Amino acid sequence: MIEEIYKQSARELLKFIGQSPTAAHAASQVETRLMQAGFRKCSEQDTWLIKAGDRLVIKRQESGIVAIKMGKKPLVEGGFKIIGAHTDSPGFRLKPHALMLKGGYLQLGVEIYGGPLLATWLDRDLGLAGQVVVKDGQNNLETMLVRLEKPVLRISMLPIHLNREVNDQGLILNKQEHLAPILGSAGETIDKNCLENLLARELNLPVDRLVDWELGLFDLQPGTLAGLDDEFIISARIDNLAMCQAAMNAFVNSEAGAATQIIIFYDNEEIGSTSANGAGSSFLRDVLTRLVSAARQKPEDLFRALARSFFISADGAHAVHPNYIDKYEKEHHCRLNQGPVIKINALKKYATTAGSGAAFILLCQKAGVPFQKFVNRTDMAGGSTIGPTVAAGLGIPTVDVGNAMLSMHSIREMSGTTDHLYMIKVFEEFFKD
Ligand code: ZN
Repeated sequence: MIEEIYKQSARELLKFIGQSPTAAHAASQVETRLMQAGFRKCSEQDTWLIKAGDRLVIKRQESGIVAIKMGKKPLVEGGFKIIGAHTDSPGFRLKPHALMLKGGYLQLGVEIYGGPLLATWLDRDLGLAGQVVVKDGQNNLETMLVRLEKPVLRISMLPIHLNREVNDQGLILNKQEHLAPILGSAGETIDKNCLENLLARELNLPVDRLVDWELGLFDLQPGTLAGLDDEFIISARIDNLAMCQAAMNAFVNSEAGAATQIIIFYDNEEIGSTSANGAGSSFLRDVLTRLVSAARQKPEDLFRALARSFFISADGAHAVHPNYIDKYEKEHHCRLNQGPVIKINALKKYATTAGSGAAFILLCQKAGVPFQKFVNRTDMAGGSTIGPTVAAGLGIPTVDVGNAMLSMHSIREMSGTTDHLYMIKVFEEFFKD
């Protein structure tokens, strides 16, 4: 039987994911939670004045966020303990001039973001969410988050009668031709402003205040616990909001320690991390450099502090799939509800080393949590994550970990209920000293 405390933790995760249809919404949720916990909002535009015991949160653009709990020891003695994850998930983004008229339907042109399992987005009730930039009377720009919580969109499948081979030969989708969602039925003309009007109504603003937007599709079906004893979490965006939420919880629950504790959630991991607030950006290095100077330390002290630091890169891991068991390396079958997965790759697609892996194993043992190790089949390339990018950029020991999941990059992914609290416990152990 799974104890209620594990199910409760998983339900909190589902709530967080439900309120975070886009990366920007996720970062906003994290910011709100930290502010409620007493963290002070700090801007990259301002001079930072920092004292011992300070607790800060800094957002870069709308979708990247870092939070800092200054350690009890000076930075050169305590170093940084950092957990990183990513706020973005694969999906669909609207094209700038998205409206199209075809076959009597109003449709939207979309681009694909990252590597979603495309077929899972078909025949689902899809909402629209993202950022809308609005201007005021003085032409000041402000970014607002929007979320249309009703099924305005649908990408319909072709009936089997017109695609008889689909079950044997697989569903082939042309990204340009077959994925435009239907927004409505239409006559011979398009109301060119219907999307703007929809957004303006939702934001309760006159339509002429809307300047630009970045919108994506999301699934309206809420996540749920499932299985015989609620042992599974089924939801959109488990990759990687589960690790954001776990790290945030552990961080908020932890007392300040000798080391300075940091959580950082990057955007754009799914498209290679090259952006102003992706893992390949200057975000973390800038913040750490400024912490050292704000604490009135010498420039060299940054390097001394980094030399005492550790980074946990937390992202989804692959659980073995019973129907495709040969796709997985035999001695490394990771299972749901069997604890955090340490990810290892000889080509350093994962940053784990013997030393960083050992440090994480000790954390699991101290927390009383089991752990597993994942490696790809030698003839399969597998994925990557933020770990190697951060390790290369900062030069600090880094471990790549995550919870096992099925259906990674599906519109509805699946992970283990007990694993979620397990990971929170290990993160809490990391922040203890
Ligand atoms: Zn991921």
